[in-house]
Amino acid sequence: MVKSEGVRKSYGLVEVLKGIDLEVKQSEVFCLVGPSGSGKSTFLRCINHLEKINGGRLWVDGEMVGYRQRGDKLYELKDREVALKRRDIGMVFQRFNLFPHMTAVENVMEAPVQVKRESRAEAKERSMALLERVGLADKSGSFPSQLSGGQQQRVAIARALAMKPKLMLFDEPTSALDPELVGEVLDVMRGLAEEGMTMIVVTHEMGFAREVGDALVFMDGGVVVESGTPREVLSNPQHERTRAFLSKVL
Ligand code: ATP
Ligand code: MG
Repeated sequence: MVKSEGVRKSYGLVEVLKGIDLEVKQSEVFCLVGPSGSGKSTFLRCINHLEKINGGRLWVDGEMVGYRQRGDKLYELKDREVALKRRDIGMVFQRFNLFPHMTAVENVMEAPVQVKRESRAEAKERSMALLERVGLADKSGSFPSQLSGGQQQRVAIARALAMKPKLMLFDEPTSALDPELVGEVLDVMRGLAEEGMTMIVVTHEMGFAREVGDALVFMDGGVVVESGTPREVLSNPQHERTRAFLSKVL
C-alpha cells in the first residue's frame, strides 16, 4: 500500500530524511517509533505530499506520490490532482483540530458535503453511523469544547473515516491525552485494524504496538535503524540506539 525507496527530505541545508526504505502492506498496522526530531512526522507528511521529497521514490497504492511517470520522465502532478489523491488518505494528529464552531456530527459531515458533494442527508446518516462506531452516538450534537480530549480525538478519527480512506496516518494520536483517556482512542484504532484498515501509526504506546502492530520501524536521525515485527524489535532490539530509546519509553 505504501512503498518508500531512498526517500530524502531536506529543509534548507538540513537533511531530515536521509533515505527511508520501507514497505507497508495492505491491511497492515505499521508502527513508526523514534526519538523527537527523528523525522517521523515529516515522513507522514511526505506520504500525502504535504511535503515534497528531494530524493527517492514514494508510492501509495501503486501510484507515485506527487508525480506521474511517462517513460523514464517524471511529471509533477497539478495541485488539483494532488488534492484528489489526498482524499484517499485519512490523517489524525496529536491535536484534534476539530472545527470549534461545529458540532461533532457537523465536523464529520463537512468534508463529504464540501469536498465530495454528498447530499447533506446522506452525509449526515453516514456520519451518525461513524460516530456510533467510535462510541459517540450520544454526542453528535456536542461542540468540541463540550467534549473530553479522548472524545474529540474519536470525532477526529470519524471525520477522517468519513472520506472512506484506503490508508490512515496517525501522528501520536494519544500523546496529548490524559492517561485515562488513551485507552478509548486506542480501542477505536484496534477496531479499525480488525476491520482491515491499513494504518501507519506514530506512537510511543508500545503496548498497542506489540498487541496490534504487524510491523515496527525504529527511526533515528532520519534513517531506519531497525525494523521487524513489534515483538522482535521490542523484545530483542539489535541496535544500541534502539535499546536506549526503548529503555526510556517502555
Ligand atoms: P517528534 O517526536 O518531536 O514529533 P518527529 O520525529 O516527528 O519528532 P519531525 O517533526 O519530522 O520529527 O522533524 C524532524 C526534523 O525536521 C526536526 O529537526 C525538525 O526541527 C525539522 N523540521 C520539521 N519540519 C520543518 C520545517 N517545516 N522547516 C524546517 N525544519 C523542519
Ligand atoms: Mg512528530
